[in-house]
Amino acid sequence: MRIYADNAATTKMSPAAIEAMLPFLSEDFGNPSGLYTAGQKAKEALEDARERVARCINASPRQIIFTSGGSESDNQAILTAAAMGEKAGKRHILSEPMEHHAVLHTLKALEKRGFTVEYLPVSAAGLVKASDLERMLRDDTCLVTVMAANNEIGTLQPIEEIGAICRKRGVLFHTDAVQAVGHIPLDVDSARIDLLSASAHKFHGPKGTGFLYAGSNVRLEPLIHGGAQERGKRAGTENVAGIVAMTVALEEAVANREAIAARLIPLRDRLIRGLSAIPHAALNGDPEKRLPSNVNFCFEGIEGESLLLWLDEAGIAASSGSACTSGSLDPSHVLLAIGRPHDVAHGSLRLSLGEETTQEEVDYLIEAVTKAVAYLRGFSPVWRELQNGDRTYIL
Ligand SMILES: *Cc1c(COP(=O)(O)O)cnc(C)c1O
Repeated sequence: MRIYADNAATTKMSPAAIEAMLPFLSEDFGNPSGLYTAGQKAKEALEDARERVARCINASPRQIIFTSGGSESDNQAILTAAAMGEKAGKRHILSEPMEHHAVLHTLKALEKRGFTVEYLPVSAAGLVKASDLERMLRDDTCLVTVMAANNEIGTLQPIEEIGAICRKRGVLFHTDAVQAVGHIPLDVDSARIDLLSASAHKFHGPKGTGFLYAGSNVRLEPLIHGGAQERGKRAGTENVAGIVAMTVALEEAVANREAIAARLIPLRDRLIRGLSAIPHAALNGDPEKRLPSNVNFCFEGIEGESLLLWLDEAGIAASSGSACTSGSLDPSHVLLAIGRPHDVAHGSLRLSLGEETTQEEVDYLIEAVTKAVAYLRGFSPVWRELQNGDRTYIL
């Protein structure tokens, strides 16, 4: 059996989305800036896509610009809010420590330019609290950036509460919603979101395509200077085929969201129950406020990397955290932020289910992971120390 359990890293494209993009790679290949028919057809497709994408998050078309994906949208959102803050003499930003590196590293760059960035505390389940936000907001805060759903542990943050507080205090609110769009309900208006980042390849669209929503109170600063595409907010010939495919994938994801969640949640919880039976293992993240697709565990006395290699041999594609963290020896910053010690954080496994995941696959995952953990512990010096009492169990 081959099982793809890394849907948080990327998803397989929807067949309807592939179908929709094909004409724009062949007969309708024209440049949307062209005045001839093929160009005008591309232009119409682009504006139709903008309207449909906007509708999916309850925005208006003028509030959407198309980007190359989540990282670019995060960068542009944060740098825009910083530029607006700077003009008003406000150089304080609030975030939380479990953000994606596209957010964290942009904030680091701003610190070098003289901004002060503070991070909200997070609970052991990975949640921020509205009361901490109220307390830590300052008169010179220009931006609050908190992700809607965490890509490693699946935790859903209280974005409606955060949005309401920010709106009341006149502070811009950005949310990295890359894991949330198409997977949980999202309404930029009712959640009072000023800036929202999304990426197509996390909801069965193509890689290298995404969008950024900016409320009417925000003047987007371009990251890419050049032509007048995207009303001057993002230069460069538009990725028409990608944008059209993203739109179809997003509409599909939104239309099927409830049905998929209703099917995935019991499968997710079955997987969590199955893996919880492994001794000295613990679920990471909140058991309820979590993405329908996300399962993330720490297993004491093993290395996440060896677990992944063992699982790959068994036909299972999984991840130890985010794709960007694996390959480096540092444990996940998310697991450290929720208080997992280094040793334990190294033994982590993320299984992210997709709409095609079956119960049979979940049962195979439970069996394979249980076997792998027992096998790898047999070779682990740390596990031997734990068993001999030379080291104390944490989980
Ligand atoms: C994948 C991801 C990103 C980056 O998106 P790209 O389109 O790959 O640049 C940003 N934030 C989160 C939460 C993600 O999961």
